[in-house]
Amino acid sequence: MIDGAGIIVTWNPGVKRLLGYDEEEFIGKPFSAIFSDDDVKVNVPEAELRTAETAGKAEDERWHRRKDGSTFWASGLVTLMKDNGRVIGFAKIMRDQTQKKRFEEQLADQANALALANRELTNFAGVVSHDLNAPLQTVYGFANILKENPGLDSEAEVSVHHIVDGTKHMIKLVNDLLQYTVDTKDTSAVSFVDTAVLLKTILRGLEVAIREKNVTVQADALPTVWADETQLGRVFQNLIENGIKYSCSERVPEIKVRAQETDSETIFSVEDNGRGISEHEINRLFTLFERLDSTAVLGNGIGLATCRKVVERLGGRIWVNSKVNQGSVFSFAIPHRRETIDGGGTAALSRSESAQTA
Ligand code: ADP
Repeated sequence: MIDGAGIIVTWNPGVKRLLGYDEEEFIGKPFSAIFSDDDVKVNVPEAELRTAETAGKAEDERWHRRKDGSTFWASGLVTLMKDNGRVIGFAKIMRDQTQKKRFEEQLADQANALALANRELTNFAGVVSHDLNAPLQTVYGFANILKENPGLDSEAEVSVHHIVDGTKHMIKLVNDLLQYTVDTKDTSAVSFVDTAVLLKTILRGLEVAIREKNVTVQADALPTVWADETQLGRVFQNLIENGIKYSCSERVPEIKVRAQETDSETIFSVEDNGRGISEHEINRLFTLFERLDSTAVLGNGIGLATCRKVVERLGGRIWVNSKVNQGSVFSFAIPHRRETIDGGGTAALSRSESAQTA
């Protein structure tokens, strides 16, 4: 216990274990003795008692000092003690949390190192794919010229076809990687996006694939959301393209695009009646370069990882429900735009508000 002037007046055996002081050494010492020099300099011990005096208690977590000068991280609670309304002092309870603190620091260091490595890897992938693009375009261009050469014998013709197809595949890989590495943290292009208009544009771009497979695409009335139009377009494009690619040969492919609004977010879904995904493979889907048993279908395993990155950077989430041989529903939620209001709170703009502002 500490008296009103900050002097320690009683002791319990835990003090010996935690701080190293015997009873006779501890009693009569100023309570500031267990604080670090830096905290004493800025009057932390005094401030703690004054807070307890006005609020009834003061809690904090900070480094403290033992008798031998070593430090430990402690959570402390100072409680005001009164007798018949008269302040008689304070009781302080402390718990050694050093291990927990060190563990948290270690975790934070690891998370920072991981984020740094991830950033470096993403930058590397971005630079490599950017630099690969030009020579690949050259190979593709010349291979196409060669393909038209009437002097080619049938064997050479087949070889040139392979070069053209292989290069086309690599160009797509390089472009997809570039899209994945685009800095989705850049919020300068975020605005209100009319997703009905966006979907029309995406479907126009997929017209050939839609016609080739005779796909029916149905869409709900779609809302306006707060997002980066180009990146959101990539999400729709990847999901719809997958719905077409992974269709089931036994039925006419059908894709449904829906939107549902909640108080806090818009949930979009892209449903197909394709081959579906087994339950144990679902968790792998959104990881970069992960492909399921899809060797018969061209792809590179970047599309869903890109969708996840875009959606998560908008503060949303993406998931899938699927049944093998029946189809899949890929859903993603995008939070409504949140604006800071006076007092530090936040307010969500509803769909109609966002539509008016657009
Ligand atoms: P890609 O299609 O280029 O392989 P994605 O990242 O878009 O890469 O998809 C990863 C994998 O998820 C695909 O290889 C495929 O096995 C599976 N997949 C994606 N969408 C669907 C879908 N609609 N139906 C069934 N499987 C799908």
